[in-house]
Amino acid sequence: MDATRRRQRPEVPVDVNAVLTESPGRRLWSWLTKPPDEILADAARDGELLVARLRVFITVLLVISPLLALMFGRDPNTNFIGLGVAVSSMLVAFALAYIVRATPYTSQVSVASAIVDVSLVSAGLLAYWIANAPLVTSNSRVLFECYFLSIGASALRYDARVTAIAGLTAIVEHLGLSWLVSATARGRGLEPDAQFYGDFSWSSQISRAIVLACMTFVALELVRRAQRLRHLSTGDRLTGLFNRAYAEEYLTNEVLRTARSDSALVIGMLDVDHFKMFNDTHGHAAGDAALKHVASAIRGKLRRTDTIARYGGEEFLIVLPGTGLTRGLEKLEEIRVHIALHEVRLPKGGREKLTVSIGVACWDDDGKTVDEMLDVADARLYEAKRAGRNRITGPV
Ligand code: GH3
Ligand code: MG
Ligand code: MG
Repeated sequence: MDATRRRQRPEVPVDVNAVLTESPGRRLWSWLTKPPDEILADAARDGELLVARLRVFITVLLVISPLLALMFGRDPNTNFIGLGVAVSSMLVAFALAYIVRATPYTSQVSVASAIVDVSLVSAGLLAYWIANAPLVTSNSRVLFECYFLSIGASALRYDARVTAIAGLTAIVEHLGLSWLVSATARGRGLEPDAQFYGDFSWSSQISRAIVLACMTFVALELVRRAQRLRHLSTGDRLTGLFNRAYAEEYLTNEVLRTARSDSALVIGMLDVDHFKMFNDTHGHAAGDAALKHVASAIRGKLRRTDTIARYGGEEFLIVLPGTGLTRGLEKLEEIRVHIALHEVRLPKGGREKLTVSIGVACWDDDGKTVDEMLDVADARLYEAKRAGRNRITGPV
């Protein structure tokens, strides 16, 4: 589980013994099958579309190399195979671009397309073996480098599993092809290619596998760093909740999803009452403790699918997807009452009461866009303040 989702969920007791006694195989399986990181899902979808476009671009470029070689009359047998491989890859690339655009995104799509990318390279190398040019299979200079492109491109999906699977597939397929060449070398006539491609040697094939592994580690590190940056740019340091920038991005997607599926969506804009006075009376550190207290009170009352963000200083945005107005008002009232009943523990000792006011807006009665909904929630929050605070204002 990543840091940000942990921030969003209520604390769940962890069975330490179960974790320690879990077998490595089971742990690997749960890592491979866990749901994708939610805040990276949109970036992963964009990455998959980008890879689809890059794949088309690269395979079109790859057609040029054997075409040029054929025009200059060099090694026609090998280059005809190269042209066939490049054109087939280009057709697969166009088909994948269509599929990625037409189907809803899941991380399995990325895993499958990363395996296809690596396997296209292996299929190209295998084509040379079938065409009785096994030294091109084992020692190819252009096609082998495409493994690096495939592993590098896998990092654009921001999912370490996709990159690990791409790297592992490349290493296994490369070693498999090397074995094929070495096992069938005798009598397949290696000599004609030898002047261009050199001899087969296991030491250089193993070195190539090691370089592929190194490339995979570099790509995994890129994924890890990109994930960390994304988490840093979406989180609020004090409360551990999402920040305003992420909340607005998330809400935009949620409104689109709600409109598409004709579902329900309720938002609540929550503001701590008289917080300036609280700060002035108890100090800034107590104010910070109060904000953390409010954040964990809200988090404790929400479902996994609900989202909260620190929208401003002492203002929080609560997003309840798939929730109608009645249920949304009940949930927000539960939060308000919980905060009013549970005092904040002050850092210097003692406890203090705190109340909040909440303005509610629901899709699509109060607005069809994010801005309209936020404006309505904000206006109702100020109505709640004017009416005396420690209350919720929704549609009348
Ligand atoms: P109202 O009931 O009308 O909302 O009054 P208020 O005092 O809560 O609102 P006001 O906007 O006047 O004051 C907000 C205060 O929140 C002022 C600011 O010092 C404090 N604040 C904002 N961010 C932080 C923070 O990160 N930590 C602390 N301790 N205080 C903060
Ligand atoms: Mg306030
Ligand atoms: Mg405020």
